[in-house]
Amino acid sequence: MYVSHKERHKTQRIGWLRAAVLGANDGIVSTASLVVGVAASNATHNSVLVAGVAALVAGALSMAAGEYVSVSSQADTEQADVGRERVELATDIESERDELTSIYIERGLDPVLAREVALKLMEKDPLTAHARDELGITETAAARPIQAALTSAATFAAGAALPLLVAVVAPVAVLPAVSGTSLVFLAALGALAAHTGGAPIFRGAARVTFWGALAMAITAGVGSLFGAAV
Ligand SMILES: [Zn+2]
Repeated sequence: MYVSHKERHKTQRIGWLRAAVLGANDGIVSTASLVVGVAASNATHNSVLVAGVAALVAGALSMAAGEYVSVSSQADTEQADVGRERVELATDIESERDELTSIYIERGLDPVLAREVALKLMEKDPLTAHARDELGITETAAARPIQAALTSAATFAAGAALPLLVAVVAPVAVLPAVSGTSLVFLAALGALAAHTGGAPIFRGAARVTFWGALAMAITAGVGSLFGAAV
C-alpha cells in the first residue's frame, strides 16, 4: 500500500511570496513618493498625513480592483475551457480517450500503459482528468479573484503603512525620514524577493532601491516646484 506524504515545494511558496513582495513594494514606492512630494511643497504636517492615508486607501482599492478584474477574466477563460471540455466528453468520448492517451504517450508512457492510465482516470472522473492533463487547470491552482484581490490590497496597504507611520512619528523631518527609511524597506524587500527567487540578493535590492529613489526624487522635485509656485 503506497502512503503519500504532504510536501510543500518552494515553487508553491515563491508565487505567493513574490506577489506579496511586489504588492508591498508598490505600496511603499507610491505612498512614500506621494508623502515626500506633498512634504516638499511645504504643506502642513496634517495635509501630508491626509495625503498619505488617501494614497494608502486609493492604492489598495485600485490594486484590489485591478487584480479582481484580471483574475476574474482568467477564471472566466478557465470556466469556458472546462465547459467546452464537458461538451466534448459528452459528444465524442472516443476521441477524448485518444487525446488523453496521446498526452500520456508524449509524457513518456508506452502506448499500452498510456491507454490503460487514460481509461482508468476517465473511468473515475473524466472532466478532472482532462482539465488537469489537457488544460492544466486544477482545483488548487484555479483562479480565485476575491482571494487575489484581498491579498493584493492587504500587501499594498502593509507596504504603504510603513512610510505613513514614519511620517506620523517624525513630523519635523518628514522628507528625509520617509525617504531614508523607505529606501531601507525597499532594499530589504528587494533582497527578500531575490532570495526567494534564488537570484543575486544585492542586485535585487539595488534594482528596487534605485527605482524607489528615482520615484521619490522626481515627486519631491515636482512637489517643491508646486510649493514654490503657490
Ligand atoms: Zn479533452
